[in-house]
Amino acid sequence: MRGNGRWQIAIDGPAGAGKSTVAKEVAKRLGILYLDTGAMYRTIAYKALQEGVPIGDEAAVSALAEDIRIEFSADERVWCDGLDVTEGLRTPEVSKGVSVVAAYPAVRRRLVELQRAEARRGGVVMDGRDIGTHVLPHADLKIFLTADPLERARRRWLELQRSGKNLTLEEVAQDMAERDRRDTQREMAPLEEAKDAILLDTTGLSVETIIERVIAMVREEYR
Ligand code: C5P
Repeated sequence: MRGNGRWQIAIDGPAGAGKSTVAKEVAKRLGILYLDTGAMYRTIAYKALQEGVPIGDEAAVSALAEDIRIEFSADERVWCDGLDVTEGLRTPEVSKGVSVVAAYPAVRRRLVELQRAEARRGGVVMDGRDIGTHVLPHADLKIFLTADPLERARRRWLELQRSGKNLTLEEVAQDMAERDRRDTQREMAPLEEAKDAILLDTTGLSVETIIERVIAMVREEYR
């Protein structure tokens, strides 16, 4: 068996399918790095909003992405140019803007470069939209997580409720559908299941069950 320092596990799927909760815990149990690529795109949208750069201004957003510094600390905080931005990444404004900035080729090129650099450092579980198809096309294991749209919206709505954000379930469902539409239809590295990915429908499954299924796939792959 190959040492886990070289494992590459890609988890993709639409919003609210449970990717980050699952990927984070799987990485922890395997003792390898977890990289939340969605948080990286969110950081670009967050910084643009902070600096008053219009989300629709492709040239300005691309320039901002060019020299941004994004870091993750062991306590799961996200740092942008030395500032802790974790709390700001899940606001409705960022969630609305993120799929717009994620369609800009210069933004994607820059973040994919950073993501591949992280993967070169050691074993990694990476979650996102284009990990299996584009960022790590040679990943050992590719999983495409999905779930019924209403259940995905409900999960995200509950998450928002817990963090004190009072959106209605309909608003969350609408925003999510719009984001998935943009992510699926963009020209560069759209949200798509890799041909060699394993599809896992998480509708009705508990988080622990999903984690156990993914761990079983990992054991099978590296046995
Ligand atoms: O995973 P999360 O919902 O935080 O991702 C936020 C957004 O970032 C996605 O809707 C998508 O627009 C973008 N994204 C992407 N490619 C990735 C990860 C996220 O385009 N690999």
